[in-house]
Amino acid sequence: MKKYMTLDEAEVQGMARVRSGGRWWPEECEARWRVAIPVPYRDRESQVGAFLGHLHPFLQRQQLNYSIFLVEQQGKDPFNRGALLNVGFLEAQKKGPWDCYAFHDVDMLPENDHHLYHRTPQPLHLAVAPSTTNYRSVEGSPTIPYFGGVSLMMEAHVRLVNGWSNLYWGWGAEDDDMWIRIKSKGLAVWRHPIDVARYTMIQH
Ligand code: UDP
Ligand code: MN
Repeated sequence: MKKYMTLDEAEVQGMARVRSGGRWWPEECEARWRVAIPVPYRDRESQVGAFLGHLHPFLQRQQLNYSIFLVEQQGKDPFNRGALLNVGFLEAQKKGPWDCYAFHDVDMLPENDHHLYHRTPQPLHLAVAPSTTNYRSVEGSPTIPYFGGVSLMMEAHVRLVNGWSNLYWGWGAEDDDMWIRIKSKGLAVWRHPIDVARYTMIQH
């Protein structure tokens, strides 16, 4: 797996057949799932090539009808991941409908083709086992399990919990807040097994 790739190299890897809007669907069959991928982004040029060069072929092997939405924050304010994911959700809807939304950090590269980005009846935490913890499950706090990195929800879930909080400026806690929102509405959080839900996290 390449952790560094220019956009030109990424193009060769699997972006060549991607349509405008970061969209692709299989020609030889009707895709079972339509998946929107909002990605919060600012100032990570060294990561975005490897991300797109890896994720496009990964999603294409799953024969999904998908679109990647890179949502870039302007200006010098602290980063606001939750707000960017909300923007991505709302903008994606204009191109929808989508069966589900996979909210995706730009530095997370899924390693296992069995890790399916499919719609699930409950919110699915995808980034279970990153390389940075030596592929052990990330320990959240004792009361709030980890929900960061990459997570997938149906549109109805996102609406039910009123999206992500816009109030977390700077690093962290918007993912914990989302876990609380999900639980407070009586939803569960599902996870794929640890040997499937593996990610290379590009160091930054
Ligand atoms: N991010 C970004 N630019 C920044 C900070 C964050 O693009 O300056 C995005 C990027 O998608 C990143 C995600 O927000 O993967 C989460 O931030 P970070 O990777 O720093 O958080 P951590 O992995 O430490 O939870
Ligand atoms: Mn990261």
